[in-house]
Amino acid sequence: MIKTPIKVLLVEDNPGDALLVRMLLEDAGADRFDLTDAGRLGEALDRLAGEDFGVVLLDLSLPDSHGLDTVSRLRAAASRVPIVVLSGLTDEEIALQALQGGAQDYLVKGQGDSNLIARAIRYAIERKRAEERLSYLAQYDHLTNLANRSLFRDRLEQALARADRKGSLVTLMFLDLDGFKAINDTLGHSSGDELLKEVARRIERRVRGSDTVARLGGDEFAIILEDMSDAQDAGPVAREILDIISEPLVLNGQEIFVTSSIGIAVRPPSKGENLLKDADAAMYRAKQRGRDNYEFYTEEMNVQVSERLPLEWDLRRARDREEFLLYYQPQVDLATGKIVGAEALLRWQHPELGIVFPTKFIPVLEDTGLIVSMGEWILRAACAQGKTWQDSGLEGLRIAVNLSARQFGQENLVETVVGVLKETGFDPRCLELEITESLLMNDVEATSRTLNELKGSAPGIRISIDDFGTGYSSLWRLKTFPIDLLKIDRSFVRDLATDPNDVVLAEAMIGLAHKLGLEVIAEGVETGEQLAYLRERGCDEAQGFYFSRPIPASEFGRLLKGRGSLLGASS
Ligand code: C2E
Ligand code: MG
Ligand code: MG
Repeated sequence: MIKTPIKVLLVEDNPGDALLVRMLLEDAGADRFDLTDAGRLGEALDRLAGEDFGVVLLDLSLPDSHGLDTVSRLRAAASRVPIVVLSGLTDEEIALQALQGGAQDYLVKGQGDSNLIARAIRYAIERKRAEERLSYLAQYDHLTNLANRSLFRDRLEQALARADRKGSLVTLMFLDLDGFKAINDTLGHSSGDELLKEVARRIERRVRGSDTVARLGGDEFAIILEDMSDAQDAGPVAREILDIISEPLVLNGQEIFVTSSIGIAVRPPSKGENLLKDADAAMYRAKQRGRDNYEFYTEEMNVQVSERLPLEWDLRRARDREEFLLYYQPQVDLATGKIVGAEALLRWQHPELGIVFPTKFIPVLEDTGLIVSMGEWILRAACAQGKTWQDSGLEGLRIAVNLSARQFGQENLVETVVGVLKETGFDPRCLELEITESLLMNDVEATSRTLNELKGSAPGIRISIDDFGTGYSSLWRLKTFPIDLLKIDRSFVRDLATDPNDVVLAEAMIGLAHKLGLEVIAEGVETGEQLAYLRERGCDEAQGFYFSRPIPASEFGRLLKGRGSLLGASS
């Protein structure tokens, strides 16, 4: 077996001693070692900077360096190379101390033979490897391979010291995943681990190699960014990180989305001690404002941390104060141009922030389980509104209500729906429940059972599949479920005019849906061009800003009164 020789750097100023070592190594095996000489420490450091050595044999008394200092200087310059100290009989004590200073082994000159020196070299290499492994384990997070909390602290200190010298800024981001606990609970811990690993990879991809990314524990990550000239530059970076984290990922064959919240603290180094605490406070503020957000630390936050009011509280309070309301967005029949239905979309009228959109807070409602009671409220409000419209002479107008997965999994869902219909007097044939595609694929049997029960208990009720095309279900599998309508996700509609792939996909979806006896509605229609494409391909209905944004019930009422064709010039 041919082995590459171990590259040995011999640092020894005495030519006689050097020659002796060379002879011993040759004796140990002609091609086992590849020896390079250096007579001074400076020369050795130059060598080490230019090439990799397997081991350094180091005399401690050199013309330009003495004693333990020699070890520490070499260590500082080449942290990863194993060192075997060569000592005289009289300074064996110092050689022992050198082991504490970072050397792996020592040899006393003039003692021992070629076997001993070869063994010392091999041992030093092994020992260095083991040391590195141990120090790695002590400094890195096993799951993600990111820096752990302890290394993070060191790095932060170093960064602050560097910034102090250079007069630059240190930016610290504190990132926390939104709803991680729920994911862990529903998908299991191994999926949770996979998710954390993927998040780590995504963050690392976005930052520079010189920046530190650490996992502080659980689903908390920290990022140290150096050399930023302007504090505000951190904002766009945070946004990009939020965006790449929120890209879909597949866990266990299931597509999931996760968002995160980031708190940012930027500081001149003199006030660095509380950087982490401040970034943490800012992160909480970001969560409070709604998820998938970042927030810069401000002085006032110090006050708030002590009485942290998570978004959850705001939401509970919001319900009691009746800050929630429903907007309605028309659904238009593409054959007649008439409004045939409305999707009810939840809004939060926040006293300070104004209208807050559901993507910001629905995840929190889901995490906390609040969605179940909120969902019932939504259903009741939408049916009551639908009944009012019907009574005012708009029979047949359909109301579509979104159901969250959590709601759908409730034992008493069917009872609730039937109860609300009875209470409000709304005709079940005009109620449409939207569920997502991923829900269908979760637990085929249970979902099928619930849907069939719904259809049996509320005759004429319609089920639609929302955001269709974003999951991984095959169209043919839809046959197993009693559904009525597919909603083509707006991501396909968006690129209809520009991406031929999406045209083909939309066409295929419409064709197959029709073969399965399903109606098709396209969501997110914004332009006349998109509309024309969809009509040409036989799409039944459409919904989108082109016709109208979601609007309050009173406005929707006025829109209905007009009730002419909404197809405009393209009809
Ligand atoms: P979704 O069910 O797919 O609702 C359609 C979303 O697309 C709405 O966003 C709507 O405003 C938006 N949209 C409509 N037309 C256009 C368009 O032409 N262009 C673009 N870019 N967007 C358009 P919104 O109201 O922010 O709702 C977002 C999501 O929040 C909904 O997606 C739904 O999943 C969830 N959601 C909303 N209301 C409720 C609710 O009452 N209960 C539950 N469980 N989820 C809800
Ligand atoms: Mg929907
Ligand atoms: Mg949708």
